[in-house]
Amino acid sequence: MSDTIFGKITRGEIPSEFLYEDEQCVVIRDINPQAPTHVLIIPRKPIPRLVDADAEDGALLGHLMLVAGRVAQDLGVGDGFRLVVNNGEGGGQTVFHLHLHILAGRTMAEGGLAAGLG
Ligand code: AMP
Repeated sequence: MSDTIFGKITRGEIPSEFLYEDEQCVVIRDINPQAPTHVLIIPRKPIPRLVDADAEDGALLGHLMLVAGRVAQDLGVGDGFRLVVNNGEGGGQTVFHLHLHILAGRTMAEGGLAAGLG
């Protein structure tokens, strides 16, 4: 399986500030924020895309969602944020190591999905 920058970050090979970490995932600030709050929840397991996850990854995917909610609350945006997963080139994915984006701090309601990311 090809390595990515997120593999190096989760393994600590590239120094990065973890806003949160546990045995299954890390949370970092996006280097090119698309909203005042823009963080990434990255599993340590390098699943390339969401469609590459299988049944045995169900608990991990659920864990990532729970972490997203807790981190959003810790960052003070628990009452209004958007959670985004880009899947594949056609979905705007650029780093092929599954991750969730938390976006908050600007209006998400206007513009529908197109206002989400990118
Ligand atoms: P995606 O387009 O869903 O694959 O999202 C990849 C995201 O990773 C983009 O929003 C990038 O700005 C972000 N990114 C890429 N490299 C880094 C890095 N070294 N540290 C933090 N965020 C990064």
